[in-house]
Amino acid sequence: MLEQTFTMIKPDSVERGETGRILARMETAGLVIKRLKMLHLSPEEARQFYHMHAGKPFFEHLVAYISAGPVCAVVLEKEDAIRELRALVGATDPAEADEGTIRREFGLDNRRNAVHASDAPETAREEIAFFGLTLSREA
Ligand code: GDP
Ligand code: MG
Repeated sequence: MLEQTFTMIKPDSVERGETGRILARMETAGLVIKRLKMLHLSPEEARQFYHMHAGKPFFEHLVAYISAGPVCAVVLEKEDAIRELRALVGATDPAEADEGTIRREFGLDNRRNAVHASDAPETAREEIAFFGLTLSREA
């Protein structure tokens, strides 16, 4: 089924100038860029985006990390996009991610893991709406 998913290139990867190379990996895998914008989340917005992790020991570190600089927020479309993007991105900890995955290539550690990728249709819808990337006019 043709499906949309959401990805976010995290601030340290943007700062290192890896946005283009990460997007190229996604496009090469057949994921089509439908919406894209750069923005800098406030700590409060980062808390909302990661609300499911509130209370975990790493939560405040994650909020500080994600709000430290601009991110690149992207809507991608492909058949089975949610599952395919998660497979391309790889495991949360880059050290455990398979060879050839984005996190293996660009991630530094289990927090600084290069990108976020939606994990299910409901979270993809929520995250696309959260970033204001739902527009009536198709790209
Ligand atoms: P994901 O779906 O693979 O991104 O992983 P999770 O939803 O479990 O975690 C969200 C984000 O929190 C991850 O992408 C990491 O940036 C960060 N994170 C997850 N687990 C840890 C951890 O144990 N320690 C730290 N410092 N950060 C973590
Ligand atoms: Mg997650």
